[in-house]
Amino acid sequence: MTAFSIRIFGDPVLRVPAKKVTEIDGGLARLVATMYVTMDVSRGAGLAAPQVGVQKQLFTYDVGDGPQALINPEIVDQSGECAYDEGCLSIPGFYFEIVRPERVTMSGLDSEGNAVVVEADDILSRVLQHELDHLNGTLMLDRLDPDERKKALKQIREQDLSKIQVPRGRRHRRL
Ligand code: ZN
Repeated sequence: MTAFSIRIFGDPVLRVPAKKVTEIDGGLARLVATMYVTMDVSRGAGLAAPQVGVQKQLFTYDVGDGPQALINPEIVDQSGECAYDEGCLSIPGFYFEIVRPERVTMSGLDSEGNAVVVEADDILSRVLQHELDHLNGTLMLDRLDPDERKKALKQIREQDLSKIQVPRGRRHRRL
């Protein structure tokens, strides 16, 4: 199975809110399987469907316990606050310290259509929140304060993101 190519910052698809998944069928299963492969080859800890050009409310994640999918996710509860250096597969080579709730509980469907509730802290909480943002057309840059955001955008525009080589060999926390 061939991996999808990942859409890079500047691609308008990353800014469009995704649509709810209405059918869990073979097509969706293939999409999830291909996203797992894509996440694996790109050493990502999370991947949202819009990052591969699919406008569906679905993301996959793997923080070391094997790949999982969450479909039509919604936040049920969140608490605390923490800062973490986030990377994004769609903004290769850049990491920004982003403040988000420390713990999150999300509901949704798994890849077989079963209702699930995921309670998360630490890196998993971070991944779930970052990917949910992607489904709303929000990027991590939007979580920076206005001055930092301006600075970050300038740095990003000075780079050719398509040419950035991200080190391989260990799992980076890119989402
Ligand atoms: Zn991302």
